[in-house]
Amino acid sequence: MSAFNEELLKASKLFGGEDATKVIKALQKLVEAADDEIAKEADLSLNIVRKVLYKLYDHSLITCTRERNDQTGWYTFRWQIQRSQLDAFIRIKKRRILEKLRTRLKFEKEHSFFICKKCPDVRVTFEEAIETAFRCGKCGDQYVSSNNEYAVDKLSGTIEKLQKELNN
Ligand SMILES: [Zn+2]
Repeated sequence: MSAFNEELLKASKLFGGEDATKVIKALQKLVEAADDEIAKEADLSLNIVRKVLYKLYDHSLITCTRERNDQTGWYTFRWQIQRSQLDAFIRIKKRRILEKLRTRLKFEKEHSFFICKKCPDVRVTFEEAIETAFRCGKCGDQYVSSNNEYAVDKLSGTIEKLQKELNN
């Protein structure tokens, strides 16, 4: 699967999870298709397919063309992925994530942390630990200092990777 397709599927999860992923996969395969063709390919009900299509269309991630049937006079809509819009959408999402990660990294670097050995979900800053006299707020056990080098390394790695993707 190409990097673009992977990103596409990730983005589609924001628009209705599994169903949206199925619809987008079907559209990728069919390139241009009417809702009933997409429903058949994705093995979903027409109702669900339409809901997902309108959502994607609302965000300009897909486009549609109208075709008139000369005999019935009815219109058929044919749907297509709008790649440039989708690219832009994914970039915006990534930039937001990057910002959040940078804030988190700054926080990790500027604080020292304490944990409770009995409560795996408890992790506080030095300032917070002082407030409870270095006793766990949950169980009352003594806090121990926690090295956050691992968290800093992991965050830095993710930030670097994301930054590279955005520079492409
Ligand atoms: Zn505890």
